[in-house]
Amino acid sequence: MSFEKIPMKTPLVEMDGDEMTRVIWQMIKDMLLAPYIDLNLEYYDLGLPHRDETGDQVTIDSANATKKHGVAVKCATITPNAQRMEEYKLHEMWKSPNGTIRAILDGTVFRAPILVKGITPYIPGWRKPITIARHAFGDIYKNTETVVPPGAKAEIVVTKADGSEERLTVHEFKESGGVFQGQFNVDESIASFARSCFNFALDTKQDIWFSTKDTISKKYDHRFKDIFQEIYDAEYAKRFAEAGIEYFYTLIDDAVARVVRSEGGFIWACKNYDGDVMSDMVATAFGSLGMMTSVLVAPDGTCEYEAAHGTVTRHYYKHLKGEETSTNSVATLFAWTGALRKRGQLDGNGRLVDFAGKLEEATVETIEAGIMTGDLAAMSTLPEIKKVNTQDFLMAIKERLESKL
Ligand code: NAP
Ligand code: MG
Repeated sequence: MSFEKIPMKTPLVEMDGDEMTRVIWQMIKDMLLAPYIDLNLEYYDLGLPHRDETGDQVTIDSANATKKHGVAVKCATITPNAQRMEEYKLHEMWKSPNGTIRAILDGTVFRAPILVKGITPYIPGWRKPITIARHAFGDIYKNTETVVPPGAKAEIVVTKADGSEERLTVHEFKESGGVFQGQFNVDESIASFARSCFNFALDTKQDIWFSTKDTISKKYDHRFKDIFQEIYDAEYAKRFAEAGIEYFYTLIDDAVARVVRSEGGFIWACKNYDGDVMSDMVATAFGSLGMMTSVLVAPDGTCEYEAAHGTVTRHYYKHLKGEETSTNSVATLFAWTGALRKRGQLDGNGRLVDFAGKLEEATVETIEAGIMTGDLAAMSTLPEIKKVNTQDFLMAIKERLESKL
């Protein structure tokens, strides 16, 4: 078959990673991308050894390159702990690359499951993906808290720029001591979060729901509600109407009830803690971590695509021993297709957009034909299942892809 390779005008930023996902990364490139696309990639090796060699500068450089070019695709990476310090003989316990990149891009993380027939969510009514957007800044994650002895009075003091003080009594502790906590957020971060959410809703043509506990928290949570509404009215209402999508605010309790009863197909924007908890709940209810995608969207529209799972260490140790692995490559593959589609859209490269769609179709159809990795085989309700290893799964996708080109 003669296939004219698809050209790429602008570079896509590639962030390589660690362990099993690094192995899969190379297989995806070699088998499913390089034969069909004249890959124009700006490569950054975020594998732990290279992060250590560069004093983590490579992570910062990759984030700045993403800002410049607008789109990146990232492989899962190790966040070092004490055991990794020893294993990799590290100079320092480097920070989470995702945290560093997020701080530079100032983005919001959107997580969405990939649905296939034969893998039924624990909530069977969920027929379309539910995307969770988590505001990953402030609140209890940047709190100040203390244990309070009996008889103490706890106050909030705000010292303003002119030196004047606002003093509020939180609680006068009597016979029983207790606990006390202060937390904050900043308008600028809430506004960035709102814009990322509205942009992503427009990009993916999905409704967006936002929920807080504003009935109880009449200043703090209410501020979130107001900022979202002001930005929506001033900058997005018209574009939403044109796109035929909706912005909908509701109390978090009501949102939870509606989400469970829904059929999916929308974005749920959550405050930091709600998003932390709800994203784990939604991911579990939809099935395997190997089917969960993640994209970091900055308020200016810059996007970084990745799988939601980690480097799958347990499988990697098996792989190193020469044993066969059956690691699910779908979320990593969809990180690539998401990034290539976005690159294609920005560059007006119709062939690239089309290719990304066909590769996704080929992947979903392969699983729906019963060919799948072990994690899915354990959950599938299809009558006939063929459990395959990491490489054979990609090979089966490749065969299907070729019949579409
Ligand atoms: P993990 O890599 O997500 O794996 C946890 C377990 O989930 C695996 O052992 C496996 O279960 C299952 N699993 C996850 N992805 C799978 C896939 N694609 N196919 C099949 N099964 C899959 O989490 P972890 O073991 O807690 O973390 C490993 C490393 O990843 C850590 O160093 C952590 O720092 C890093 N991490 C990175 C990111 C990121 O870069 N975004 C995110 C999370 C964690 P079974 O063993 O039962 O098969
Ligand atoms: Mg969590």
